[in-house]
Amino acid sequence: MREWDSFPGTRLRVLRSFLRGTSLTRQEVARQIRQSLPAAAAHIDALVAAGLLRLAGQRPSSGGRPADEYEIDPPSLSSIGVELHPDHILGLCCSINGEVWDSVRHDIDIANVQSGDYLESAIVEMVNGLYRTWNDTHSIQGAGIAVPGIVNCDSKLLVNAPNLFLKNYSFQGLSRKLPVPVFVDNEANAAAVGEYWSSSVPPAASMVLISIREGVGAGIMLGGQLVRGPGWRAGEFGHMAIRAGTRPCNCGRTGCWEQYVSDRALAGELGIRDTGMLNELLAQPGPDVTRVWHAYIESLAIGIENIAACINPELVVVSGSVARLEDRLIEPLQEVLAEVSFLTQGIRVSVSRHPDNASALGAGFLAFSGLVPGLGLHTEKKGESHVE
Ligand SMILES: [Zn+2]
Repeated sequence: MREWDSFPGTRLRVLRSFLRGTSLTRQEVARQIRQSLPAAAAHIDALVAAGLLRLAGQRPSSGGRPADEYEIDPPSLSSIGVELHPDHILGLCCSINGEVWDSVRHDIDIANVQSGDYLESAIVEMVNGLYRTWNDTHSIQGAGIAVPGIVNCDSKLLVNAPNLFLKNYSFQGLSRKLPVPVFVDNEANAAAVGEYWSSSVPPAASMVLISIREGVGAGIMLGGQLVRGPGWRAGEFGHMAIRAGTRPCNCGRTGCWEQYVSDRALAGELGIRDTGMLNELLAQPGPDVTRVWHAYIESLAIGIENIAACINPELVVVSGSVARLEDRLIEPLQEVLAEVSFLTQGIRVSVSRHPDNASALGAGFLAFSGLVPGLGLHTEKKGESHVE
């Protein structure tokens, strides 16, 4: 077995090394991915053959032969990312370098969301609109759809989305209705890919992104590889019971983490419609708001401790509307984590660089996985799908 075959995420790590607009030599890439020069060269050759990298020139050398330098080709390579919420759909266009140049939001009728066909039509309308607007000037390679639920990425089957009240809906029809290849994934998985791709997280880092929205999900990246699990349920920490026997959850169980830390749960505790006005409330909090916020941080910490016990990541990233409150969130959260547990020692907690559109951006990056077999974003699987 060749060295790079043993770790399918490596090619993604190589490509990611170039995403800051820099040109790199084979030696520099080998150092960044901590592999041998022949392994790095093989990945670079494969990416050149796939039309993702090109020779940029030669690096002058004080002694010996000048080294070839490579860069992304072309920098305008683009995709469309879409994220679904119970009451709206967010779509954007992004380049492989992470630049977002268009973003649209369509409200949808929450009463109709339980019909998958209604959702699919809304997605088709949005993607086709963005494609028609931009494909003449940007090379749109694909569309990624981020869904808040368990998704079989191979068959494009939405297995279960408790907060959309939708089960076993196939998004296969999208492939016939859209002009580009379509990728469908869980929204937290997509957000983790977006964060990993666009941030300065070391290429080999292990990271868990916690996506806090109407529900709570998590995306797990280990060594540049997204972990989905054979039944596509890896990272479903929102339905980890932290206080069993208490609050009922849309999944049919009780005491799930998302019943304590989702946007909906926090807004309910504060008696507000949504978490949009959270910053205002916390700027001059009364005793009730302070109590709710402290309880929220403690519940968040319990879940992160459990995640740490399972995965021991180097980095935990919080995404969603609470991530906009970095100053009020991260320091107290780290204090609680330091006080209560030995499990979280050495783990860095931060907020997402894209708190408002992490899933859509990541879905856009997932769409690039069609360009290079073995890129590591989308795992081809041959087993049976797991349908509930
Ligand atoms: Zn649940």
